[in-house]
Parts: sequence; structure tokens; C-alpha cells
Amino acid sequence: MERTRNLPGRRRILKGAALAAVPYALLPEARAGAGPRTVDYPLAEWLPAHAANRTAANRPAGRPVDRVVIHVTQTLYAKALTVFQNPRKKVSAHYLVRSVDGHVAQCVREADVAWHAGNWDYNTRSIGIEHEGWVDRPAFFTDALYEGSARLTASVCDRYGIPKDRAHIIGHYEVPGTDHTDPGPNWDWVRYLRLVGRA
Ligand SMILES: [Zn+2]
Repeated sequence: MERTRNLPGRRRILKGAALAAVPYALLPEARAGAGPRTVDYPLAEWLPAHAANRTAANRPAGRPVDRVVIHVTQTLYAKALTVFQNPRKKVSAHYLVRSVDGHVAQCVREADVAWHAGNWDYNTRSIGIEHEGWVDRPAFFTDALYEGSARLTASVCDRYGIPKDRAHIIGHYEVPGTDHTDPGPNWDWVRYLRLVGRA
């Protein structure tokens, strides 16, 4: 018992020592060149997309942010993160919300342009939020997902002065020129906007 109980502590110490020996420049956050290492949304976990999958910028300076674009991943949360981290995929979003618990990952700094809308004008002016699930599998759109996402969108709208309405909180399918259908007919916009307004 005693031995078992002591092991985690020892492991922690060893891990801490090993981490201290790693030069700062080798840490993922530093390598990504993503600026400050804190998240823009306090409840988010920083899980950065590869630097090759976004455009460094200094928004909102020179590029006003006036839209939130709602997406559905068409894959699992963990898989979506690996896609964002793969420099060959050329895709990213600022945030990814997990189905089971509404957990929020931040993958691109809000100051930077994420590649999510397939439309440069909309990419430059928006925050892109991906949701774990499929357009034709409504079970993924859990209460926790709606609530976690709505809190995030409310925070984005408050910080940039974006009206909390359907003209400014849009689906990917509403981006001009897109052939994407997400978030699809199972996404409950009325409920989502009500939650955003209450958050
Ligand atoms: Zn999309």
C-alpha cells in the first residue's frame, strides 16, 4: 500500500525534473510561435493547431471580428485535434467543443486567422467554433455541448461587441460559396441562441 501510494508523487517529481531540462524553445507552445501562452477564453484548454494551418494576425486590429461561424467536425474530438495538428491538412478552428461534457479546446489564438470557413473574407472576420459530431447524428449534440458552446460564443460576442443574433452567429452552410452543410438540420438554432443570450 505504502509503496503504491508513493509512486505517483515520485513520478511527478521525475516528470517535473525532465520538463525543467527541456529548453523553452522545444515546448509545443513556443514552437507554434503563437504568442502569449494563455488562452483567450478562460475555460478553454490550449491545444494548438499547427502553425502551418492558420494565418498569424493581430486581430481585431485592422481586421474587425464580427461573426461567429458554427461547425460540426464530422469526426471525433481527438481526431479533429490531430487533423488541426497535421500541417498537411491546411485546416483549423479557433475552438473545438467536446460532445460528452462540453469541454472547450482552443486551437488557434483569436488574434490569428483560423482556416475553417473556406472563404478568406469570412475567415478573416470570424471566430470559428467546431463541435464534435456529425450533421446526421443528433445524439452528439448533447446538453453539455450546447451549454459549453453557448458560454464560449457569448464570451466571444461580449468581447468583440458582436450582436447575439442569427445574422452574426452563422452556420458554415451560410458562408458564401461553401458546399458544406454543417451544422446541419439537427442543430437547434433557437435553443442555441437562447442559451447564448442567457450565458
Ligand atoms: Zn464547417
